[in-house]
Amino acid sequence: MITPDDALAHVSLLVHSLPPQPFVDGAFRATAHGETLDNVSPRDGTSINRIARCTTADVDLAVANAKATFDAGQWRHMAPRDRKRLLLHFADLIEAQAEDFALLECIDTGKPISATRSFDIPQAINTLRYYAEAIDKVYGEVGPSPASRLSYAVHEPLGVIGVIVPWNFPLHLAMWKIAPALATGNTLVMKPSELTSLTALKLARTAIEGGLPAGVLNVVTGLGHEAGDALARHMDVQLIAFTGSERTGRQLLRAAADSNLKRVSLELGGKSPHIVFADWQDLDMVATQAAWGIFYNQGQVCTAGSRLLVERAVMETVLDRVTAVASNIIPADPLDEATNLGALSSKGHLEAVLAQVDRARADGLSILCGGQAARTDTGGYYMLPTIIADVPSDHPLAQEEIFGPLLCVTAFDTDDEALNIANGTRYGLAAGLWTASMNRAHRFADALVAGMVWINGWDSCDITMPFGGFRQSGFGRDRSIHALEKYCDVKVISHTFG
Ligand code: NAD
Repeated sequence: MITPDDALAHVSLLVHSLPPQPFVDGAFRATAHGETLDNVSPRDGTSINRIARCTTADVDLAVANAKATFDAGQWRHMAPRDRKRLLLHFADLIEAQAEDFALLECIDTGKPISATRSFDIPQAINTLRYYAEAIDKVYGEVGPSPASRLSYAVHEPLGVIGVIVPWNFPLHLAMWKIAPALATGNTLVMKPSELTSLTALKLARTAIEGGLPAGVLNVVTGLGHEAGDALARHMDVQLIAFTGSERTGRQLLRAAADSNLKRVSLELGGKSPHIVFADWQDLDMVATQAAWGIFYNQGQVCTAGSRLLVERAVMETVLDRVTAVASNIIPADPLDEATNLGALSSKGHLEAVLAQVDRARADGLSILCGGQAARTDTGGYYMLPTIIADVPSDHPLAQEEIFGPLLCVTAFDTDDEALNIANGTRYGLAAGLWTASMNRAHRFADALVAGMVWINGWDSCDITMPFGGFRQSGFGRDRSIHALEKYCDVKVISHTFG
């Protein structure tokens, strides 16, 4: 058992091994202007270190290196089994340092060390292995042709990929993009969130230790409207693979239109409905999954079940039980191994979530538990799990993504009403339902407007199934073999014999 004090001492050594510089062409490099940003830990509001504030000149250098590496061909033309072997070795090296990655992710995000150890880092390793192993198992195709002609289609890498990711699962979500992009022979420039850059920098250095060619995986840190925007507008970037907010998603589409018409894939927000029908018997299980379906990762999950829709006949029982589960989830020190709810990502974000609670109070809504900050004496950004009852389905709380530990509960009486409420936002990321009726389950699976529908088990998929949304939750898919297509162009070659 490692105490929080021991962990803190170790994490401080780890952080100071990462200079405030971008990682370009196989090494940490000074930036053009030398400016840095303070990196604050949500755990206690203190500064952990400084990160480079990259500008257009730094992004240009990183992209130029990534392009030169791509054009040189060593990576893209490497025999598939060799690229596979290198990526598997890279995964082994991350695994050998998994505890260090877990500590960095914990201190940078404020999420519990138990989560970074058991979920974030193992998932990132698993994702890398999944795509590495796929490299020599994906084939092109030969078209039906006359005997005098051979026509075939091959997948070619796009070139330089820009990866822009948020702060809620920094390494895990980045790897959903990095692994398939590298597996298909592209080179990358990644911009992590300015709030959580540490594991990205360590990852890039680990790639070099693992023998990946310099220039294949580059990391530029800094602000979205500076480094991120420069990447989005770069003429030599062929795709921006993005996870983040709708607002940024719109800016990326504009930047693509204004520059080289690069491709953009968008994994954006959600307001996912979690629907409970009265015919489902095990309401204790529902209560636990409904609570953790929103409170996991302090509610900062794009697929969070932030709207609980409950058939009126079981509303009272469900509310009692979900509230009981929520009241027992107590925010605590992220570095303590026993903690299962940590801090929100930043002071500004905590204030934005609390402002939504104030709005609920002002509108006379009933707050069943939580509704306030916690552990304020630590200087960190903690909040109690919060449940708000009887939220009208058109209320802003039931329409806007809040991205915090705040559950809105709404009653329904009929299947049609449940469906209308569930589909009644601009999003379409995920949806889930609990019912004993097979007919209803499949009717809803068909009618729910969502990229993922979970029946009788919340968030029940893994790397083997595609992940992504409908409507304003974005487009393009991460995870599964389908994700490889995003990082490739299809070229047709047709050879006519004499
Ligand atoms: P954000 O859009 O503010 O930032 C995401 C990334 O984009 C960061 O690296 C940021 O620096 C960068 N960025 C910001 N402005 C930019 C610009 N003008 N040009 C280029 N890059 C820019 O999002 P966030 O606050 O970091 O993350 C929270 C959001 O992410 C939520 O809306 C959440 O739903 C979404 N999210 C979606 C998924 C999913 O898979 N669908 C997963 C996690 C988070």
